[in-house]
Amino acid sequence: MERRAKEMNTKAKGHTVTALNQSNYQVVSGSSGKVYRVWVGESATGKTVCKCNCRWGYYSGKHGNPVVCSHVLAVQQLLAGKKKVSAWSSQEQAKRQHRKMLDLSQGVTVTIR
Ligand SMILES: [Zn+2]
Repeated sequence: MERRAKEMNTKAKGHTVTALNQSNYQVVSGSSGKVYRVWVGESATGKTVCKCNCRWGYYSGKHGNPVVCSHVLAVQQLLAGKKKVSAWSSQEQAKRQHRKMLDLSQGVTVTIR
């Protein structure tokens, strides 16, 4: 998971995000040029929930889990504007940053500062 969080941070920087509307985003992969769709919404408990139609997003989302992939991370970065969005492999690591946190699950926590 440690490696995955780092990879996501690097990959997300290479993606190009276009907002289609408030909750739908188009993400063009910086490495493959493939186009993905990311949906951002809120759960009944007010938590941020994201979905992505990439392979990783499809399989993890299938089990009802919130999805965190580099595409979702890239969208979060767009939404955060000039603030910096980073993925961490553990909540403990993320908490040490003392920033606003988005727990998007699967062992990956996203901080916004
Ligand atoms: Zn994805």
